[in-house]
This record gives sequence, structure tokens and C-alpha cells, in this order.
Amino acid sequence: MAKRFQAPKGTRDLLPPDTALWAAVEVAARRIFGIYGFREIRTPIFEETELFARGVGESTDIVGKEMYSFVDKGQRSLTLRPESTASVVRAYVEHGMQRQPQPVKLFYIGPQFRYERPQQGRYRQFHQIGAELLGGRGAESDAEVLLMLVAFLKELGFKDLNVMLNTVGDSESRTDYRERLVSFLEARRERLSEESVRRLATNPLRILDSKSPAEQELLAEAPRLRDSLTAKSAAHFAAVCRTLEQFGVAYEVSPRLVRGLDYYTNTVFEIVSEGLGAQNAICGGGAYEGLVEELGGQPTYGVGFAIGEDRLVEVLPADSPAREQASHFAPGPVVVAAAGRLPVKVGELSPLFSLVERLRRLGIPAVEATGRQENVFERANAIASPVVVFIGQDELQSGRYSMRALESGERGEFDEAGLVRELKKYFPVTSPSQRGAGTTTPPADSVTEGEE
Ligand code: AMP
Repeated sequence: MAKRFQAPKGTRDLLPPDTALWAAVEVAARRIFGIYGFREIRTPIFEETELFARGVGESTDIVGKEMYSFVDKGQRSLTLRPESTASVVRAYVEHGMQRQPQPVKLFYIGPQFRYERPQQGRYRQFHQIGAELLGGRGAESDAEVLLMLVAFLKELGFKDLNVMLNTVGDSESRTDYRERLVSFLEARRERLSEESVRRLATNPLRILDSKSPAEQELLAEAPRLRDSLTAKSAAHFAAVCRTLEQFGVAYEVSPRLVRGLDYYTNTVFEIVSEGLGAQNAICGGGAYEGLVEELGGQPTYGVGFAIGEDRLVEVLPADSPAREQASHFAPGPVVVAAAGRLPVKVGELSPLFSLVERLRRLGIPAVEATGRQENVFERANAIASPVVVFIGQDELQSGRYSMRALESGERGEFDEAGLVRELKKYFPVTSPSQRGAGTTTPPADSVTEGEE
């Protein structure tokens, strides 16, 4: 037997019906982000390796250990994107978006790649829904992005998420704090793990989010970043907090939250869900004041976030409106089946095939099924079909079809026009091309008043 293949370690196939749920989550994102004035950007799946080295930071785990880098046939070093902020900023600079009216608000949805140890909720190919606001106005932009994020999660039916908020200060605050933290930790070097000792030289702030209980105990006494904040940074953070309070967004100040990417300044945040175990962060983000300049642009205020879509879907509430929406994306089709044997002449289309195509042209999802009656019903159940239509010898002659509704068990017999009318009740019209067709009833939510 030939070798059978499996998806590479850390990757997975998303299969129906889950794919419909993912699509519904993405529709909700597009809707809410649109309300806040964000538009979609699609950047390449791979970029020059140096973009991430410079943009994400040489000392981060992402760049140091987790990148999928390769040399192409033209001897270029390329990397599958491990995150999208650097790419969005690259595009902003490359396309002269700095000269457009500011801020520029962009969102993206798509796969990211990191060579991490796979476990529940952690993959090597995972998906992010993210947004970046570029050319913004400090605390107000931070709050705007957070309000949008919370609105999106609310739209998905989340009720009990924790918004963790912190400030990592501006570069002045950080230089001061870095010195104080390093001298505190240097004096206690023997109590640090090998990893943390290494970070002491490269990225000491990252030691703050150590998971080791011994180090956590030690860090409880460490100097606090809050005490190193410049007056400007302190005021910035206070303004973000005040705005969230004003709009009723609950948050928790989490002084040790520093995030693993180098580009953040001032506000950083994470959203965690209790339902996820160890990998409990659904979303991370923050402001970045130096990144656009670092990538060749003018100094520009940026703030953004990335939501882990895999984790988001995993903890989606049972009563999320996205689940209902998903059933509309992938409605179980009508099953058209033969009652008994149908005469099919060689070279002619089967009557099943023809009816199925006629229904589809009217916007009614339909598939044909062959075989014995119990197999037909089994198939109909498996694909969540609402109705089975039978064509037999008699039906072919009389031009009438018998129909069975699966949930109610109701039966009926109709000519083709009657059948179409009946079936349309199960499938509200969604496509504009069918809306125009005279035979269809307008969808319940169509707007007729106040047309421009
Ligand atoms: P980050 O880009 O590291 O700030 O991550 C933002 C969000 O992406 C996290 O909160 C996770 O929800 C998600 N995420 C990051 N890495 C992974 C991964 N390896 N597998 C699944 N989700 C991830």
C-alpha cells in the first residue's frame, strides 16, 4: 500500500461544519471592525526575514527560536509570518499611507506560523484576527482599539472575559526601570533559571512573566515599573483607564504583564479566558511608538491587537450568535432521491441531476442521493438536510414530486412550482442575484425604506 500522509506536526485541517463557524466569527469581526472604521488588509504569507528580526525584535522568542525561515531559489532569506503587525507597518510605509488622512485603520485575518511545541490551543500554524490603528492619538487610540475589541467579543456572546491591562512605559521609563530591575536581579542571580539569566542580558523585562513559582516569589519583591513611569506615561495610562471606565469596560491592572514582543510602549493588554487551561490568552496587543520609524517610516503612533482565532473558536459560548449564523452559511441542502428505479437512457441526464440543478439555479441548496430509502434518510440526517424530495416513475409521468420534511415528518405532493415555493421556506434568499429574480420573496431583513 502507498504511504498515507498526515498534516504536519502542529498543523491541522479545519473541516465542515467547523469551517462555517470560523466564517461566522470572521463575519462578526468584519461587521464590528467596520463600525469602527477599520478596513481589511491582506499581506503576503512570507516576508523578508529581516523584517521580523527588526520589527518583532532579535531578543524575542519568536525571532530567536520560532521562525519558519528558508532560503529561496534566488538566495533570499524569507520567513513565514509569525505575526502580522510588522507586515502591516511595512505595507503602511511601502504604500505611502502616512500621506493619507490619519489615522489609517486596518484589520487582517489569516494564518501565522511559529515553531512552538504543539499542545492544546498551541499550534505551529494558527490563525489571528488582528487590527492596527496607525497615525493615532495616544491614549484615545488605545481606548478606541480596546473598545472595538470588547465590542467584538460581546458580539460573539462572551460574558466573562478578563481584560488585563498594563503599561510598560515610554522608552525613558523603561531605561530607568531596566536598570533598577537588572540590579535587583543581578544581586539574586543564583535564584534565577538559566533562561532568565540569559534574558538578564538580552530582554530583562521578559523575566517578569516567568511562570516558575520560585521566580514569581522573587519577583514579588522586585522594583515595580509603575514607580519608574515618567509623568507623561503615567498620565497616558490613567487616560486609557478613565476612558474604559467611562464606557463601562471592566479591566484588571496586571503590573507584571509585559508581552513577548519588543515593539510595545506604554499600554499593553491581554484577554484571557478561564476555559482554556495553560494556553489561556485569547488576545494580546498594545501600543507601539517606535515601530513605524524602525521600519523606515516617519515617527508614527500605532496601537493594535491580535486575537488567536483557534482559541477564540474553542471557547466560543454555547449560545454565541455566531453558531446560529454558521447554520445559515452551510444550510443542509435538500436531498433529491429516486423512489424505486428510474429509467435513465444512456446519454441522457438523470431526472435527479436535472431537478437538482434547476433548484440550485433558484438559490435552493440541493444534492442528489441514490440508493435505498434508509440510506437516503441516513445521508439526509448526516448533512442536516431539512427535506427529502422523491422522484419515482409516477412522479416523472405526472410532473409531481413527493416531499418529506425531516423534522416534522410532514409529507406533501407538489408540482414543480409548488415544490419550489415550499422549499424556499427553508432557505431565505441571501444572494443579490436571486433577490432580483421575480420568483423569490424578499428576505425578511431587506431594507426598502430610505433608499438613497
Ligand atoms: P501574540 O502575537 O504572541 O501577541 O499572540 C496573540 C494571540 O495569538 C495569543 O493571545 C493567542 O491567542 C494566539 N496565539 C499565539 N501563538 C499561538 C499558537 N502557537 N497557537 C495558537 N494560538 C496562538
